[in-house]
Amino acid sequence: MTQKTITHWIDGKSFDRPAERHGDVYNPATGQVQAKVAFATPSVVDEAVESAWKAAQTWRSVSIARRTKILFAFRQLVDKHQHDLAHLLTLEHGKVTGDALGEVNRGLEVIEFACGIADLAKGEYSENVSSDVDSYSIRQPLGVVAGITPFNFPAMVPMWMYPLALACGNTFVLKPSERDPSVTNFCAQLLADAGLPPGVFNVVHGDKAAVDRLLEHPKVAAVSFVGSTPIARYIYETGTRHGKRVQALGGAKNHMIVLPDADMELAADAAVSAGYGSAGERCMAISVLVAVGNAADKLLPLIKERIAKLKVNDGLTAGAEMGPLINQAHRDKVAGYVDSGVAEGATLVTDGRGLQVADRPGGFFLGPCLFDHVQPNMTIYKDEIFGPVLSILRCGSYDEAIKLVNENPYANGVALFTNDGGAARKFQHEVEVGMVGINVPIPVPMAYYSFGGWKASLFGDHHIYGRDGVHFYTRTKAVTSRWPDPRFRGVDLGFPQNK
Ligand code: NAD
Repeated sequence: MTQKTITHWIDGKSFDRPAERHGDVYNPATGQVQAKVAFATPSVVDEAVESAWKAAQTWRSVSIARRTKILFAFRQLVDKHQHDLAHLLTLEHGKVTGDALGEVNRGLEVIEFACGIADLAKGEYSENVSSDVDSYSIRQPLGVVAGITPFNFPAMVPMWMYPLALACGNTFVLKPSERDPSVTNFCAQLLADAGLPPGVFNVVHGDKAAVDRLLEHPKVAAVSFVGSTPIARYIYETGTRHGKRVQALGGAKNHMIVLPDADMELAADAAVSAGYGSAGERCMAISVLVAVGNAADKLLPLIKERIAKLKVNDGLTAGAEMGPLINQAHRDKVAGYVDSGVAEGATLVTDGRGLQVADRPGGFFLGPCLFDHVQPNMTIYKDEIFGPVLSILRCGSYDEAIKLVNENPYANGVALFTNDGGAARKFQHEVEVGMVGINVPIPVPMAYYSFGGWKASLFGDHHIYGRDGVHFYTRTKAVTSRWPDPRFRGVDLGFPQNK
């Protein structure tokens, strides 16, 4: 049987020339290679950027009404095909069907937000700033924008970027993760079906070679990146060195503080859902539970009981709650962290390393793992694990817990569980993290707020989507205007003063 090859999408169609290099695309539940993905050379990237650049010359002048209509049509198509998109996500990423549908729906919300561009991109107008002089500002697109995205949300994270970038009048070149590329091509087809002109949205698949060309290409005006912290830092430094506007969202180590007065059943539900959902492969996953005072003793049995009931299986199997990890190397890396936690003296309460899934012997599965008595100097506390491993760290006081969070170099998401309004208020005021949940374990902001961490979780000045997204994808122009009036004739070398 010939294997399916996933290729680029340039100038409104599938790229038809064979690639020099390919990557393997696995089904993580079976461990088998199910497709090959073409890797773009710098010259293929150049073709995509050229197509986007040509399209940008006209797309920027397409009316807001027309752009909005196309986005509305795209919104309808994504909604209609949400089960097809979710199916592709499960096949290549491994996440279970319900989780995949959740991903598509959170992406859909950003498309819906982008449909409001008419209001979002409005400028300002001041009449009579001086005698018969008016002043106003307009927001204009940047030109060609590139997006580089991670494997863990292959539909939603690109949707954090391109709907708004296109709505603002930019054209787009997306370099999605090479590990689960199919969903991006599906969306490219939907955009074309919605009426998007050729060249406005392009996809290049590949690895560092493609990314590096985008970062240095003189016709790429801006780069949105989401991925791990070392690569985010590299993208930010390289992109800005080449004169581009860059926003680069990085990795995370999200804490959930539980105070002794919290509703412990609710906190246990939240810790298990946010710790093991998507097998912990979420940048907003809870990875450390900071139990204050006697909270740990109350929580531990409740969490253990819930973990024991989790159904780990192929994401397509009915009733599965947690699927496999993305590939064998990552599965082994996460299992290696569990080994190191044991070696460094943490108490392994639940060990998922030996988990076998019936009929899926080659799948990249790792069962949920739970550690107690984790210390801040341990590797499992310091590193982003990005797998189904939850650590409990015991703290003597609330102040100590906040200090721990604030000393961590990552600052993406954080949550507090309490019934004390004063404690919650102190938390939102003092905690140095970009996204805060109060009795909400995964505080991913709605599309009309913006998403982004602080410190090593984001490089750049703008968060992604929401109003920050509109600002990132546009630049303002301020116009000062006076209609010719004979009263204002005459040479005057003085600096203009407002009268
Ligand atoms: P990654 O950093 O390995 O890859 C992200 C993108 O960068 C991919 O498209 C990849 O092809 C490219 N890339 C990888 N290595 C590169 C290199 N050396 N040079 C140039 N480009 C390179 O991330 P991943 O493993 O795909 O995704 C998981 C990571 O993403 C985790 O760290 C997670 O926390 C993070 N993430 C962060 C957010 C957020 O909003 N902050 C959201 C999702 C995921």
